[in-house]
Amino acid sequence: MSKNAIEIRDLKKTYAPSGNQPAKTALHGVDLDIPAGSIFGLLGPNGAGKSTMINIMAGLVNKTSGNVTIGGFDQDVNPRQSRAAIGVMPQELNLDPFFTPRAALEVQAGLYGVPARDRRSDEILEMIGLTDKAHAYARTLSGGMRRRLLLGKALVHHPEILVLDEPTAGVDIEIRQMLWENVRKLNRERGMTIILTTHYLEEAEEMCDEIAIINHGKVIVRDNTAALIGRMDQKTLVIWPDGPAAALDLPSNVALETRNDGALAFTYRSSETNANAVLDCVRNAGVVIGDVRTEQADLQDAFLALTTAG
Ligand code: ADP
Ligand code: MG
Repeated sequence: MSKNAIEIRDLKKTYAPSGNQPAKTALHGVDLDIPAGSIFGLLGPNGAGKSTMINIMAGLVNKTSGNVTIGGFDQDVNPRQSRAAIGVMPQELNLDPFFTPRAALEVQAGLYGVPARDRRSDEILEMIGLTDKAHAYARTLSGGMRRRLLLGKALVHHPEILVLDEPTAGVDIEIRQMLWENVRKLNRERGMTIILTTHYLEEAEEMCDEIAIINHGKVIVRDNTAALIGRMDQKTLVIWPDGPAAALDLPSNVALETRNDGALAFTYRSSETNANAVLDCVRNAGVVIGDVRTEQADLQDAFLALTTAG
């Protein structure tokens, strides 16, 4: 298998107009590589284009243009192999109410052409904690159980890539933990690449090795989680002194830059220190503060814009 589980090049998607809805461009030329064996987060507010991207990867939505390679197979050249390499747990709870969980898994396996001897419906039911509901009607299942069944369905054809679209939206904490445990186990024990979408930074932070932030159909940032959190953590406090600036005795984790207009810009990590500590240093040096303002790293601005839009 190639080094990347997924390779996306200049991917564009415009949904055709329907009824009184105008045409809508959901993806504006996305480039993204997702390393094989990683737990990868697609982070972005509602409407950013996450589901569109995932549904294109899964072969459920037709792209407008661009290239998508799944598990080393170009979607357009090897559609069957690229579909077989990926399993998707969709955002919508789209279960047939007349199928029992076991039947739903069997039907799904049939759709993917998994021969009877390779089916592992009982093992999957066990893993998702639905063994005792194996023969219950889907309509009698709780929301959390339905979501777990959707996870099970995504696994029937033994994909090497598992995609979870907003897996914890509306899910209580117990189910969420069970889901995360299962997902980590699949990643660790089978080397399965896990891709999940979320609009919660904390969730991506907890689960993912790498994160791409998507907004308005574009990838705006992509980095490993630690580096990304580090960048988002950065703050700048700008002070315009009244009168001459004195020598300052600053903590080693605060960087100072004097700007052209005489402003002093202090940059620090909010996890390490805070604006009050910096202001104290400035006052202790006898500097009179004329005006003060905080600035955030670009990424933080971007992320704040993202999360408030979501
Ligand atoms: P996300 O999953 O990040 O919330 P989506 O991919 O669902 O974002 O949506 C991206 C944009 O595409 C949104 O503006 C949404 O309204 C639009 N969109 C999604 N699906 C359709 C569709 N089937 N027809 C028309 N527009 C759609
Ligand atoms: Mg979505």
